[in-house]
Amino acid sequence: MTGAIYRKADRLGLLRIAQGLLYTKGADVKEQHATCWCHRGLNSGEAAGVWRTTDGSNARLSGVVTCGNVWACPVCAAKICEERRKDLSDAMAAAVSMGKTGYLLTLTFPHEADIPLGELLEKFGTARQKWANSRTYKRIMGEKGNGGEIGRLGSVTSLEVTVGKANGWHPHVHVLVIADRLGFGEGDPVNPAGDLASILIEELKGAWVKALQKAGLCDTHQVSDTFAHGLNVRGGERAAEYIAKFGRDERWGASSEITKGHAKVGTVGEIAGDMHFTPFQLLDFAHQGNTWARARFAEYVAAFHGRRMLSWSPGLRKSIALGDERDDADLAADQTPAPEETMVATITADDLSVLTSRAMLADFHRYVAEWCVCTESAQADVNDYLAWVRTLPKAGRGLVTVKGAFDGRRRAIETQEAA
Ligand SMILES: [Zn+2]
Repeated sequence: MTGAIYRKADRLGLLRIAQGLLYTKGADVKEQHATCWCHRGLNSGEAAGVWRTTDGSNARLSGVVTCGNVWACPVCAAKICEERRKDLSDAMAAAVSMGKTGYLLTLTFPHEADIPLGELLEKFGTARQKWANSRTYKRIMGEKGNGGEIGRLGSVTSLEVTVGKANGWHPHVHVLVIADRLGFGEGDPVNPAGDLASILIEELKGAWVKALQKAGLCDTHQVSDTFAHGLNVRGGERAAEYIAKFGRDERWGASSEITKGHAKVGTVGEIAGDMHFTPFQLLDFAHQGNTWARARFAEYVAAFHGRRMLSWSPGLRKSIALGDERDDADLAADQTPAPEETMVATITADDLSVLTSRAMLADFHRYVAEWCVCTESAQADVNDYLAWVRTLPKAGRGLVTVKGAFDGRRRAIETQEAA
């Protein structure tokens, strides 16, 4: 298996692990997390389309239920972020064509283990609000259509989190700030990481430390350290790199090559304290039986529920002629085929439940991508594959099989727990 290939299959494998973790045994169907039903039933109609990219690098199903949860679902997250990434790169291109540039600001705070993520997110939100309301921020970054000292057109904020055993949760935001070139009055980067320095940046750092103190996220003894590391500003090249990787598997670790790399360092029960993981990396450890990873993933899904991943400042999309933002559910459900895709076969709702009950959905995608090269025989090949899967025993582990069609979340459906 080469690096770029079959990522969708890897993500489907992670989705299955997430479903196992999120499924509440004995609870009512409607009480289950929506991600439990993702790719487990048909949206409407009799059959799902089986699509394959011509170069064999990917396969997917159309017409299946999608959960649209950008935090909990590795499959929907990838789809949603693909579109968000296009928006970000359009914003960057528009900035350049207007003679502006994009800066990448990263905001964080000193973090310690044992503080619940929900509490940290609340306080972190409060700190960002206080920072944006400070006189220093308003003077430098502007407000309500006035661009401040840096000539800011607007910004896009992305919320992220990693977690480690020694230092606990590490929520942080990356802010793409569209502003005048050399707006911060900066010189060349001061270190290999690309950090910029200037008087305005120092002032913003000071305001950030004050905001953190007010929000209860920075003690007196942490002030100098937080001043040095709590906020950094990088230039256009770094901003472009960030956008290129936005939501991609290599950033999340939602691909087997990366997670396997980590697994070598810290196997079950012995994850090194100083290592940090993305939520989707936790899934692999949880699957291997690591209870710490299992509990952290559950805490993460609960704490991020309903939060926005990406927030555009008011008026920015309009000023760079980007249309209205589409919501997560809408993007996840989008079935528009890519030019290099062909529909090679269809499968029924029953076929789909045969695949999920045997934990073979990820493998099926790999099979289609790799083997269904001949469009004429693809349906027969798919049927043969399905006949084989029917002979396999059902997989257990609290995973469920969905029968019949449903609209993704609400409509009552028949379920049956796999043996
Ligand atoms: Zn999903």
